[in-house]
Amino acid sequence: MMNKNSFELYVHIPFCKQKCYYCDFLSAPADGEQIAAYREALLREIRYVSAQIRQAENGQFGTVQSVFIGGGTPSYIPEADIAAILAEIRRQFMVEPDAEISMECNPGTLTPQKAACYREAGINRISLGLQSTDNACLARIGRIHTWETFLESYAICRETGFDNINIDLMSALPGQTLAEYLIGLQQAADLKPEHISAYSLIVEPGTALEAMLANGQAAPLPTEETEREMYEQTGAVLRQQGYHRYEISNYCRPGKECRHNCGYWNRTPYLGFGLGASSFWKETRWQNESRLQAYLTEAGNRDIRRNPEQLSEKDRMAEFMFLGLRMTAGVSAGEFLAQFGVPMEQVYGLVIRKYRDCGLLKEDGDRLCLTEAGINVSNYIFSDFLLE
Ligand code: SF4
Repeated sequence: MMNKNSFELYVHIPFCKQKCYYCDFLSAPADGEQIAAYREALLREIRYVSAQIRQAENGQFGTVQSVFIGGGTPSYIPEADIAAILAEIRRQFMVEPDAEISMECNPGTLTPQKAACYREAGINRISLGLQSTDNACLARIGRIHTWETFLESYAICRETGFDNINIDLMSALPGQTLAEYLIGLQQAADLKPEHISAYSLIVEPGTALEAMLANGQAAPLPTEETEREMYEQTGAVLRQQGYHRYEISNYCRPGKECRHNCGYWNRTPYLGFGLGASSFWKETRWQNESRLQAYLTEAGNRDIRRNPEQLSEKDRMAEFMFLGLRMTAGVSAGEFLAQFGVPMEQVYGLVIRKYRDCGLLKEDGDRLCLTEAGINVSNYIFSDFLLE
């Protein structure tokens, strides 16, 4: 159970060796000078935000239960920079002794020296971006690595002693068949990672892939029916391999849920550092400056928060429902009552009955959760929890 005074930290590293064709994250290639300038800005920002909060909270602001270094490709920058960032975090915040400290790595950017440095710095969970085990498919989406490179990176992590590894996989990729996808899923599961995230590709506007599909340069996407099959069979295959689904797209061995992501779904407060990073603090959500040059100049020197949004009571109730229902454990009626002082049934009785009666929601004691069928249409259900 989460400590009430705990919060989370996210650190964004917006650099990658090369842009994948489908990517719409804040990430781009960079030279050594830019990376060094970014590290300095990040360190300044960590100090600045910690001082601001310490002042606002009279020096009492709880402890850090998890840190997630994401990107981009954090393993692309010098390992000493990662160690320096974590050291600064430990100087400025109280990181709990058993905090989950995750970092995203991409195959092709990891070495034994880097992995050893990450462990030394306290990182205890590695998330590896595989996406597909099929080399032709990886090339079609602009990944920099092959399946073999991935295997080398995975071995490096294990040999360095990492015992909590996530593998990211994607389905519905251009030219991907159901059979190819299932082979890849099996190959990934055979490695026995503690955690697998399996997402369907979404072709985002403005990406290279969108243009390639429009002008016929990319292999066609699987049909909707194939995509649904991929999605449904993912659960079945991974269940057979001893993984349990704890969130719409996330599977793990017992006890290996990603605590950081569970924090997002449980509405645990978090502070985001880095370009475009988002934060959720005191029921306010905001995003950092997302233009690199402005970030480099302003971070740590002035307020770089953009579009802060103070959530209303209705926003908070809606978030409680649609974020909590992402997890297979669902939401607790008791917690709803404790947080909002009104029974869940009184606010959402009609919606709950509607979806329970058609088998998309179910109750289990105090908890309300999506059924298997409900998970497949979750976005549609979630929109009904928004309050006017
Ligand atoms: S590695 Fe990830 S962040 Fe970097 S370009 Fe590819 S998808 Fe985007």
